[in-house]
Amino acid sequence: MSQPGIDLRSDTVTRPDDEMRSAMAEAEVGDDVFGEDPTVIRLEEASARVTGHEAGLFVPSGTMANEIALHVHAPRGSEVICEAESHIFHYERGGMAALSGLMPRPLVGERGLLSAPQVEAAIAPDAVYRAPTGLVSLENTAMSAGGLAGAPGPQLEVAELCARHGIPSHLDGGRIFNAAAALGLKVEALTHFFDSVMFSLSKGLGAPAGSMLCGSRDFISAARNVRKLFGGGMRQVGILAAAGLIALERGPAALVADHVQAKRLAEALARTPGVKVDPSEVETNIVVAEVEGDGDAAGRLVEALAEHGVLAVPLDRLRVRFVTHRDVGPEAMDSAIDRIGDVLSQPI
Ligand SMILES: *Cc1c(COP(=O)(O)O)cnc(C)c1O
Repeated sequence: MSQPGIDLRSDTVTRPDDEMRSAMAEAEVGDDVFGEDPTVIRLEEASARVTGHEAGLFVPSGTMANEIALHVHAPRGSEVICEAESHIFHYERGGMAALSGLMPRPLVGERGLLSAPQVEAAIAPDAVYRAPTGLVSLENTAMSAGGLAGAPGPQLEVAELCARHGIPSHLDGGRIFNAAAALGLKVEALTHFFDSVMFSLSKGLGAPAGSMLCGSRDFISAARNVRKLFGGGMRQVGILAAAGLIALERGPAALVADHVQAKRLAEALARTPGVKVDPSEVETNIVVAEVEGDGDAAGRLVEALAEHGVLAVPLDRLRVRFVTHRDVGPEAMDSAIDRIGDVLSQPI
């Protein structure tokens, strides 16, 4: 790479800035497995408030937060209704089966979002041969559909439907702050009606590590035990929670700039031959471009871009994902757009 790299693989690549690092250096800490880390306690309380739930739990990763929720909510041998390209089904190494003995019932959503009638039709009937439905899990934003923000109305309908059937509902809100920013809503308006919600501190919000799981006091107390079971109990982790508190304070407002950058990138790609993007479908910080070509066209484009110092990831053989974030400002984006244009001016 001759030019400095511009990393658009994910918003997880964001690095803690000076404000975060100094808060981390000064954090008051204690042993969190004993429930004695004051900074973690503050972060858990603040996260519960932000999501409209009673309690929160700090966990090392979003994957662990989801897997804990699955384990607590759904009995062994039950089914989990989820979207076919959702994180819990597609990107967690089969964790629901491996760790909790659960079976996915994946449904293909409308651009990654499931509707109440669709979920209702998939709930298992009370029949002697059927595995019962143990949980319904939604994702907001829906990553593989290009970061679509799920509006509160349809999400609430699914949660209410679950409540009527006595089935718990979980929200995988890895990027729920992006959804809130895109819709101009408080995070709570998108999360309070689910039985549990997880969100990532370590993506666009810029913390170095950690995710939050929120729900009722009883749910979180069970989740705390499962966190230990899965090896996720940490000790003086207020060091990380201090960064998480700053991420929370920044909130959805900090993500609006990333969405502006994503729109600019999408508009530029829409004018570039060789890839297809509909900028009107770009609502948050993810741009998915369809590559014209055959075989592993996405893999070839990603390689060619890397040679020009622009990093992206292939989603499958024909789709490339770009994610904007706080460490790529408008000037770096100008340069990325130029370089992508150069690469696409040659046959891939
Ligand atoms: C990133 C992400 C996760 C997993 O978080 P990790 O911290 O990478 O384990 C889960 N769900 C969604 C929707 C995500 O975007």
